[in-house]
This record gives sequence, C-alpha cells and structure tokens, in this order.
Amino acid sequence: MPSYDYKCKNCGQKFCVIVSIEDREKVTCPECKSKNVTQIITGCSINTGSCGGSTPSKGGG
Ligand SMILES: [Zn+2]
Repeated sequence: MPSYDYKCKNCGQKFCVIVSIEDREKVTCPECKSKNVTQIITGCSINTGSCGGSTPSKGGG
C-alpha cells in the first residue's frame, strides 16, 4: 500500500502512514490522536520552483 505524509493541525506533528485509499480519511495523529490532520503533498522538489502545474501563458491568449 502507498504511504502518505500527514501533518496534524492540532499539535503540528508530521507523520507518515501507510493506508489504503479508503482509509485515508480515517487517519489520526499518532501524537495526540486528533483527526484534525491534513495530507502533505509530496513527490516534488520545492527548491526547483517548477512543481508541475500549468505555466502562465505570456502575451495574453
Ligand atoms: Zn496531533
């Protein structure tokens, strides 16, 4: 199963969990057991600046 990075909004704890797609909404913070967690989108380098997405077109259009 794939792993996902989460961050707890309650205590700010970052953790990685291995869950199925269906259980992603059941993830709780291992530190404070809070369900107030948000998934951290990883897989791209922030330093490079270019992180996929659409590039803004120049000259209108
Ligand atoms: Zn927490």
